[in-house]
Amino acid sequence: MKHRIVFATGNVAKMREIRLILGDLGCEIVSMKDAGVDPEIVENGKTFGENAEIKARAVWQYTGDIVLADDSGLVVDYIGGEPGIYSARYMGEDTSYEIKNQNIIDRLEGAKGDQRSARFVCNIAAVLPDGRVIHTEATMEGQIACRPAGREGFGYDPILMIPEYGVTSAELTIEQKNRISHRGKALEAMKEELKRILEEEA
Ligand code: IMP
Repeated sequence: MKHRIVFATGNVAKMREIRLILGDLGCEIVSMKDAGVDPEIVENGKTFGENAEIKARAVWQYTGDIVLADDSGLVVDYIGGEPGIYSARYMGEDTSYEIKNQNIIDRLEGAKGDQRSARFVCNIAAVLPDGRVIHTEATMEGQIACRPAGREGFGYDPILMIPEYGVTSAELTIEQKNRISHRGKALEAMKEELKRILEEEA
């Protein structure tokens, strides 16, 4: 049976990346908006995985499809993993990333070398038509820069220095970032899982 994949996001840029990566699965890929579903979602999980699953299940209840959702954020070791699952809400949803980014740099004052280690994490949950759930998770490893740099990307990109490239995530082109990003890698891994499941069914 040919399945439809619903992605629990309203973010247009994310949908573009998802269609690009999952396109060759041979499934129709739609956003929850396209599917006509807009449930109230309370993201009260304690991990990226729990939050991804909460979002996916909330949409799955209304469709019978394969429903995917992701949850991501920045984890900074020196400050106990903050902002972590609270990345979007850190210092308040309406606070600019200029302020959030400078605040993180300030909190790392005195931290040197490996003490500045940090990463973007992305967990993707897929709820299958029979209610089973699978997860994939990937990271993009780096260090918190001493000052923000770059204009590409969004959010915390200007302060995560990627050692292999010697620049921040906001100085990478979209293509470079998609190839090595937490979300890109978690999506690729999810594609392999779904391929296997769809083949088993066929
Ligand atoms: P969400 O999982 O799309 O809701 O993202 C959570 C938050 O994590 C975003 O609002 C950003 O603050 C942060 N974040 C996740 N991925 C990235 C990234 O690739 N670059 C910069 N910030 C990110």
